Amino acid sequence: MKAISSGSTLFEAVKTIYIRISRAALRAGRSPGEIRLIAVTKTVRTEAIVESIEAGLRDFGENRIQEARDKILKIAPRGESGLAWHYIGHLQKNKAATAVEFFDLIHSIDSADLAAEVDRKARMRGKIQRILIQVKLSDEESKHGIPEEGLDALLEEIGRMKNLKAEGLMTIPPFFEMPEDARPYFRRLRLLREGALRRGYPLRELSMGMSNDFETAIEEGATMVRIGSCLFGERKTGP
Ligand SMILES: *Cc1c(COP(=O)(O)O)cnc(C)c1O
Repeated sequence: MKAISSGSTLFEAVKTIYIRISRAALRAGRSPGEIRLIAVTKTVRTEAIVESIEAGLRDFGENRIQEARDKILKIAPRGESGLAWHYIGHLQKNKAATAVEFFDLIHSIDSADLAAEVDRKARMRGKIQRILIQVKLSDEESKHGIPEEGLDALLEEIGRMKNLKAEGLMTIPPFFEMPEDARPYFRRLRLLREGALRRGYPLRELSMGMSNDFETAIEEGATMVRIGSCLFGERKTGP
């Protein structure tokens, strides 16, 4: 591995996040090794992603298909092993083929229609596509996800799709200044997973928690936290 430039702020940020993840896990009586850090690299330059690989990160989350594709194609020839790409944005059906081609785990399946399309594209590639189901637990217009009442029916349909492997649930709570206010949403997602487990669906993963609230999410059982700005700095928002 190449030496990390001295005083790299990214390296420091990675270290700090791992310490915070570990502390939150231990507070909740969990093993820190159960929690996967997904570095959210939307809007982040390819060079910074490469630097973060050198700092030890392996899981990356993107929410724009085209931007992600370009970066993945630039990074792939470097031949780093063990990288995993996570699609965390809203997925349109007409982008399903690209998502299946480039992503190891799609976090945002939220309808039977979308699931069927991803299943079809996965079959064409001879791939078993790993997915999470995004659940919408708030009534914010802007958020995607299946309402919790629809979860059982969706799980049943996905269970019949041969090229999909549902591994867990994902949610994005409303933004709160105080992370404590997001706790009921995280807890709710965990209870939904427990219900699904009782009905025989082997959902292990809970993708929940972002820069502002990941420690609370870990206390409530998160197995994947999606962290962008705490690692790479605030994103410039478009006009
Ligand atoms: C942008 C984004 C994140 C990361 O957000 P930060 O607050 O920068 O950590 C996590 N999850 C999803 C779905 C996102 O779109």
